[in-house]
Amino acid sequence: MEKLLYEGKAKKVFACDDTDNCIIEYKDTATALNGLKKEDIKGKGLLNSTINNIVFDMLIKNGIPTHFIKTLSPLRILVKKVEIVPLEVIVRNTAAGHFSSRYGVKEGTLLKAPTLEYSFKNDALDDPLINDYQIIAIGLATKEELDIIADLAFKINDLMKSFFLKANLNLVDFKIEFGKYKGQILLADEISPDSCRLWDATTNKKLDKDRFRRDMGDVIEAYQEVARRLQTNG
Ligand code: 5GP
Repeated sequence: MEKLLYEGKAKKVFACDDTDNCIIEYKDTATALNGLKKEDIKGKGLLNSTINNIVFDMLIKNGIPTHFIKTLSPLRILVKKVEIVPLEVIVRNTAAGHFSSRYGVKEGTLLKAPTLEYSFKNDALDDPLINDYQIIAIGLATKEELDIIADLAFKINDLMKSFFLKANLNLVDFKIEFGKYKGQILLADEISPDSCRLWDATTNKKLDKDRFRRDMGDVIEAYQEVARRLQTNG
């Protein structure tokens, strides 16, 4: 029997023979509002896995250090077993979501420069915003680690922005997570329409998880469209 190490909202993590590594398996579950809104969307796991692998492949080819080792099956990847830095690292190019509601900037406003913010990954506290000083004070990461994380986050943004644009998708914002592995900071977790806002560059149609969060319908169709475009234009 495989040993389940952790079950998250959209993924399971299994132990594997090599204790330095582990296996991630994608699930069909969609959640929002810190798990209060939850639904199974058939096929979402497979689409996220497909999209994640395409994006990670591109990032690795461009020198970004990641946890990814190889694909094991359509729903499973082998990764380095990192110690997750408990931060949601959010980069934004265009105002949307909490940035719009928090600062009163109309959704769709192109920002004069990309922004970076952190949330403390803590379900009990509802993932509160946290700044560099507080992160260092609590000990969630060191100053040196944060410098590496910020530098990688902006590099990843530049790479993903142009990559998605080739598929006629605007990268509005996204959330990434990092892990520590043998002293190195690696990009971990996943990159998919669950964690990125992607708008059609011509029509601004939302092709991401906001369709689920905001009950807009056609969730799976939007994810299929992103996968199709990346497979043909990415
Ligand atoms: P916002 O802060 O506006 O809600 O989200 C900013 C970006 O981060 C969006 O692309 C959103 O999908 C992503 N994001 C924020 N929190 C989470 C989270 O808990 N899980 C995932 N998968 N993505 C998140």
